[in-house]
Amino acid sequence: MTDWKIEKQKFLSMKLEEKRKEYRTKKYYTVDDVPTWKDYVISKRKSNKLLPAIPLLESNKIESSLNSKLADKVSFFTGDITTLEIDVIVNAANKALRGGGGVDGAIHRAAGYNLLQSECQTLNGCPEGEAKITGGYKLPAKYVIHTVGPQGEKPGLLQLCYRNSVQIMLDHKYRTIAFPCISTGIYGYPLEPAAHVAVMEVRKQLEKYHEDIDRVIFCLFGEIDEQIYIGILQSYFPVL
Ligand code: ADP
Repeated sequence: MTDWKIEKQKFLSMKLEEKRKEYRTKKYYTVDDVPTWKDYVISKRKSNKLLPAIPLLESNKIESSLNSKLADKVSFFTGDITTLEIDVIVNAANKALRGGGGVDGAIHRAAGYNLLQSECQTLNGCPEGEAKITGGYKLPAKYVIHTVGPQGEKPGLLQLCYRNSVQIMLDHKYRTIAFPCISTGIYGYPLEPAAHVAVMEVRKQLEKYHEDIDRVIFCLFGEIDEQIYIGILQSYFPVL
């Protein structure tokens, strides 16, 4: 077997305590460390500190009967996606699946650059909108789903990134996943329109598959991302 296959299995079969010693990041967060969206809203309402809502886009529709169930299934987390100790983190990759800049670079470094690169290079790249899975190696996350976002504002392709990533997670029966704000860095998709697409598509997947999913985490990377997501989540995942 090639080295990456041996290493992939090694990290996947390690006891958690043992694996934690291998993390390149000092801190890690389990799904229980990340408040659900419902808990976040309830606590902010109590202190009157909930930021204003951003309304649903007119073309987007939600199945309101599921609101109460689904508000427990999503979260936002502001920080480095490589610190999440969950089943799957999603990478905003490039078509060649070669470790690049931004979140891609951070994920490769934290996984162990050569290990993750070696596996990625066996996958024959990835077209825009599609997704492929690898091991997580030294990351706290068990697996990485690499998806290639569009360059610029192309909602259909961005939506596919979220849908295909969730589908791969479900195919493998994993239950927790975190997304970065795909395409909103180097690929230049404006953050607010991208957030409407991301949150709507996750909502659609949860409406269908909520029984097979424990948590979808939107991993944000700054205060502006946070303001937008807090605004948008209130409309797409209303908490009564
Ligand atoms: P893309 O090429 O798809 O635009 P980027 O990596 O440039 O990908 O940016 C995607 C998003 O990821 C941006 O919002 C950026 O701020 C964010 N980001 C960058 N590094 C990290 C990280 N370590 N964890 C989470 N998000 C990150």
